Amino acid sequence: MSITWSCRLSVAQYAALGRSAPAPRLECADCGEQVTFDGSYRRQVREAGVVHEIFVRRGFCRRCNTSEALLPEFVLRRRRDSTCSVGAAVLERFEVEIPPDAAAFYAGVPERTVRSWRQRFSERASELWQVLTALTLEWGGEHPRRTRNARRPGGSAIDAMALVWNAAQRRPTADVPPPWRLANVIVGGELIATRVSLPFPIITRLIARSRAP
Ligand SMILES: [Zn+2]
Repeated sequence: MSITWSCRLSVAQYAALGRSAPAPRLECADCGEQVTFDGSYRRQVREAGVVHEIFVRRGFCRRCNTSEALLPEFVLRRRRDSTCSVGAAVLERFEVEIPPDAAAFYAGVPERTVRSWRQRFSERASELWQVLTALTLEWGGEHPRRTRNARRPGGSAIDAMALVWNAAQRRPTADVPPPWRLANVIVGGELIATRVSLPFPIITRLIARSRAP
């Protein structure tokens, strides 16, 4: 299992810290006990044509005897390419503001890989839309409206990312990463995974508030 957390460092900055890279001290999602750090493992993350070797720390709950990888949000689960690399390739097809040199993030990645990212994102867009919209409303944000993005495959999920980001910024604890990265934190590093599994604290809170079956 893993938890994705909002890391303020770039891949290169995090990688440069080696084994002493930071990680949050979280509470266990099952029992609420504060987890302790429990070693780390090596992993590669590719961005802008550079393969960085990073150490991912693990959190351990003594009471539950469970261990979880603490993934910084620039990591996509089961992918070597960084969150921003995939984001640059997907987002350039939509009406959003991205830096003019964003394509450099996925420089050197084979065209078929880039196509597979876009395809995967489109396939799971409605699931992402549901998750992000539910959380937006939970956080008191705006209801979704149809935009020009919504006519393109995957576009509704892009719009939902913008709305959940707006809602997140109005929360008292706001230290919010950019929309694409925030969405990756919310879905636990699985922006282009086969299916979305919600991080446990969010899903239980939503269910607790729901009166419907
Ligand atoms: Zn626990």
